[in-house]
Amino acid sequence: MIPLLDLKAQYASIKSEVEPAVMRVLASGHYVLGEEVARFEDEFAVYCDAKHAIAVNTGTSALHLALLAAGVGPGDEVITVSFTFVATASAVCYTGARPVFVDVEPATLTMDPAKLEAAITPRTKAIMPVHLYGQMADMDAIKSIADKHGIAVIEDACQAHGAEYKGRRAGSIGVSSCFSFYPGKNLGACGEGGIVVTNDDEHAKKIRMLRDWGQEQRYHHTLKGFNYRMDEIQGAILRIKLRHLEAWTEARRVRADRYSTLLADSRSVRVPVVMMDRRHVYHVYAVRSRDREHLQHSLRSEGIHTGLHYPIPIHLQKAHVDLGYRAGDLPVSEAAAREVLSLPIYPELTLEQVDQIAAAVEQDAYVS
Ligand SMILES: *Cc1c(COP(=O)(O)O)cnc(C)c1O
Repeated sequence: MIPLLDLKAQYASIKSEVEPAVMRVLASGHYVLGEEVARFEDEFAVYCDAKHAIAVNTGTSALHLALLAAGVGPGDEVITVSFTFVATASAVCYTGARPVFVDVEPATLTMDPAKLEAAITPRTKAIMPVHLYGQMADMDAIKSIADKHGIAVIEDACQAHGAEYKGRRAGSIGVSSCFSFYPGKNLGACGEGGIVVTNDDEHAKKIRMLRDWGQEQRYHHTLKGFNYRMDEIQGAILRIKLRHLEAWTEARRVRADRYSTLLADSRSVRVPVVMMDRRHVYHVYAVRSRDREHLQHSLRSEGIHTGLHYPIPIHLQKAHVDLGYRAGDLPVSEAAAREVLSLPIYPELTLEQVDQIAAAVEQDAYVS
């Protein structure tokens, strides 16, 4: 059996580093926002080539606070994409603002800058592209439109730790950028975690206050804040994992390249498109298939588990019917939602397993 993701394999490879660090935190008596979290913040800011990093309890909280720091609130609109994990839009709704969806580019499945200008209104307060699957959106095109209208750009980089656009890291381009450390992400905690990265001193200060009850000084609540703090145990584990992240990312890239080479002329699937000016970190390796359900079933019968990221775009989710979208409004997103299939990808997946999976995908082409 080949799982979609194997977190136990990764843990086994770093157990000897993680366990003493966790024991140290347990013995320290200090469990929330301490030395480990503070050092992780510094180290992650360096990793992203950004000035500040503020650790929080989830990626969703990171998005929420980044939006609040940009002044987003009731009556505002935030332009984002529908072909993403639901948290992207939910975080906008938390602020009282309304998510406005633009379609994605057919090749990269990230925000289509050509659709952006028409979606801007006097209420638009922020633009939030998603670096889907680990490939950054077309940030120069998006930023130049945003700058022209004086609108903030916030990166949803929850799937894109270490991704690059024209040599610039995810987290270094938007006014602020948000990452998730959900266990399955490229850098994952042993529990929940997230972080906001920014070069803006004012945003950093505000986000730091908002994550801890809006206080600058204990029991002096300047802002209406939240309990979005990160645990010391997660901070300690993430510091250890961050040291391995580049090697893990390279391992993902090698496996993705091998899939893409083996499946380049596939009759069954189309491989992901990677732009020359970007470093894709392959949080997800999604192929596109005309008969996805059939392919998923036949792989499953060979013991190969696959995933769907994502089968229903947010504008067609029941939870968001109030936004008033209908089927057909975002055709590129809707086609992607029907066709994408995520193949197993993680650093511990062997190259032989990649070969076996690619062969099973090709086998399906001749059967169907
Ligand atoms: C995972 C993810 C989030 C939310 O992160 P959590 O840590 O699970 O709250 C937001 N946006 C995208 C694109 C994600 O993949």
